[in-house]
Amino acid sequence: MDKNLLYLFLFVLAGCSKGEKKSPSVFFAGEIVNPTSSHIVLLKGDKVVDSALLNEHNRFSFSFDSLPQGLYHFNHTPEYQYVYLQEGDSVMVRLNTMDFDESLVFSGRGSAISNFLLELFLAREDEIPLINNYYNLEASEFLKRVDSLKNNKVALLNELQNEGEIMGSQVKIGKASIEYTYYTFKEKYPFRHKNLAHSGIMEKLPKEFYGYRNKLEFGNEELTYLRPYYNFMLNHIQNLAYMSCNDECKVKGQVVRNQLHFNKHKLHLIDSMITAKTLKDNLYRYVAFDYLLKVHDTEENNRTFIDEFHKLSKNNKHLNEIDKLYNGIANIQPNHVIPDVLVTSTDGDTLSLKEIAKDGKTVFYFWSGSDRRHFENITKRIAILTKQKPEYKYVGINMRTSEPLWKGLIEASGLNKELQFRSNDFKTLTESLIIYPPNKCVITEDTLIVDAFSNIYASF
Ligand SMILES: [Zn+2]
Repeated sequence: MDKNLLYLFLFVLAGCSKGEKKSPSVFFAGEIVNPTSSHIVLLKGDKVVDSALLNEHNRFSFSFDSLPQGLYHFNHTPEYQYVYLQEGDSVMVRLNTMDFDESLVFSGRGSAISNFLLELFLAREDEIPLINNYYNLEASEFLKRVDSLKNNKVALLNELQNEGEIMGSQVKIGKASIEYTYYTFKEKYPFRHKNLAHSGIMEKLPKEFYGYRNKLEFGNEELTYLRPYYNFMLNHIQNLAYMSCNDECKVKGQVVRNQLHFNKHKLHLIDSMITAKTLKDNLYRYVAFDYLLKVHDTEENNRTFIDEFHKLSKNNKHLNEIDKLYNGIANIQPNHVIPDVLVTSTDGDTLSLKEIAKDGKTVFYFWSGSDRRHFENITKRIAILTKQKPEYKYVGINMRTSEPLWKGLIEASGLNKELQFRSNDFKTLTESLIIYPPNKCVITEDTLIVDAFSNIYASF
């Protein structure tokens, strides 16, 4: 990692371009080796700025007369990465999709900060195994090691600044990236230390451990889509929710341990702490999805949660999406009739899931032609289940796959064609049945839902 950064530093020096006259236009172009899509999309936050087609040499370019300065990201499906752009920039990128992040190199005027952010991202990935070991150290030693990793990066940033390669708000974004990356490890520490459960280490953390917390920013919109910052916020909220609950919510000396209670803490923390509107909306959305999708709480608890959510986040920009998720989940609780989603058989007949599930016990599982390993594994699993539990009918629902590919895959897999169906409306399918995670299955008996959140690898 340090070698990479050193290389970056030399590279940047060699590409030095001081003294050139700046125009307000911005140019961003590049070459994609082994493209996985026909185009590149440039985004600011979650808004598309522009998109560009790759030409016959797999090159693309964006050109703007002017562009607000700041952090952007570009997407070449399924990958994305940052690029920082400001007036006068002429940034080139080259990457190979076989090794997306590791192969990525920026060059040209204004590219130093983008290279720096990328190197920081790669450094973090390299350092994670090391830090996983540090979690077992005493708090003061942990702090020392993590701060030392952080200070290396700050020194490099300072050098780039002294050389005039990065300046102004670029320095701020670079600095925030470094700081929040390493603060995140500190937020995780009390939960990752091996003695946590036994020794009450939380009480023993030295006073200065969370010293950085009085420097945190909660209202800076420019940081909203900066990944290290967003990750930090998620971990910070998790930590505060746990600690404040631990301190304040003891009922008869016992700590309350349920997911509804804990997630309500998170909603209230976001409400009281975060002032940047988009960040706030995004964090609320994260907590809502995390709770509704992963906890599989009772109908009543889900309702309590969503009511609380509406109370706190009335004009959330993701409200429609979150309500759809909530309603979808409410509709597939036990003893509800399976939603009337239409699918087609291999003979081309259109049927509803209700018709397919009408007699006896049925297990619906889901697969897509784009994930072959998942399909192979699930095919093997279905063969085993069909032998072990013949009282169920195992119905495969295919999605996001062309019809010829779907038929070809069924043919090659040896699956029973009569139990295979295809949806050509993924949106309706997933809004109705909440296809998450990929190994989920829906169990019904005589059209009534028994468990819509089972797992094909679990025993049932
Ligand atoms: Zn509590």
